[in-house]
Amino acid sequence: MAARKKKSAACDVVVVGSYNQDMVWQAARLPAPGETRMGRFSSGPGGKGFNQAVAAARQGARTAFIAARGNDALGERAADTARAEGIDARWQQVAGEATGTAAIWLDAAGQNSIVVAPGANSLLAPAHVLAQRETIASARVLLTQHEVHPVASLRALQLAGELGLLRIHNPAPQQDGAAYRALLAECELLTPNESEFAALVRAHGAEVEASAIASLADEDLHTLCRLLPVPSVVLTLGAAGAFVSHADPTRFHDVAAAYRVPGQSAHVVDTTGAGDCFNGALAASLACAVDLALATHVAQATRCAACSVESHGAAASMPTREQVGRRFP
Ligand code: ADP
Repeated sequence: MAARKKKSAACDVVVVGSYNQDMVWQAARLPAPGETRMGRFSSGPGGKGFNQAVAAARQGARTAFIAARGNDALGERAADTARAEGIDARWQQVAGEATGTAAIWLDAAGQNSIVVAPGANSLLAPAHVLAQRETIASARVLLTQHEVHPVASLRALQLAGELGLLRIHNPAPQQDGAAYRALLAECELLTPNESEFAALVRAHGAEVEASAIASLADEDLHTLCRLLPVPSVVLTLGAAGAFVSHADPTRFHDVAAAYRVPGQSAHVVDTTGAGDCFNGALAASLACAVDLALATHVAQATRCAACSVESHGAAASMPTREQVGRRFP
């Protein structure tokens, strides 16, 4: 098992990732090019990295967040929001670049169109990450994704490997290229969703439709997972939950090398951030109880993620531990 630290760690989870201010315009229908429609506006914190950090913090993990923001009003707001969540944010302030934003158009059926302007996120410097060595050293679990510069993620994963942290890499959103593929060799746990998984196995020579993945036999899914150069995979399957595949189950106190963890039934209002909630909650659960089987942590992550789809927003929809306990006693 890779998470080897004692309970005295000053921080349980460290997330290296993105912050975006989400701006959501809701209308009955999405506007066609050239068309103007009337609607409602809301805005809130998001970005995969920040969503995951909030999910971990609300599950009770002491959480640090290493990220980049602009020297602007949205960057100030990001810092305030992180403080309010009790997150130890280690910001790189990027002069002359805006804090990341996402413009989201949503229709009455829940369909969306999104433009992300990553701004400062894409300039997160490997040197800034390496300067946070002490923060990373004090954590048990590192969590990375694909919304910041891949070399910043790579340095974080490599440093965390040297320091003996358990490394979870969430390969989201899907990105192609050698710089992103290099991240796989530096984690113990990979957590793709179905479309990310289909793209990853395609890059390793196997063809599978994302829509067919959940109905594949466990044996076939396990074979596909083993094509990827990672010790363990937790493949998320939307409402169907997750599939786990290990090269060596004992490393995570599991018995089976491959198994499913069913999803929880939920009254879905907004699935934005479900995967982020799953990842943050998984990291928190692993960090706080390192000796439990991975199956137990994955089951807890599915309960948290099911709660998140029952409310609106990205970071805002992350449930607290108490809310999860009440919803799934
Ligand atoms: P992503 O949000 O990255 O596309 P998934 O759709 O696989 O990822 O969802 C991540 C997790 O969120 C799932 O493993 C599941 O636990 C939970 N989840 C997602 N959609 C639902 C749903 N409709 N009902 C209950 N749980 C859900």
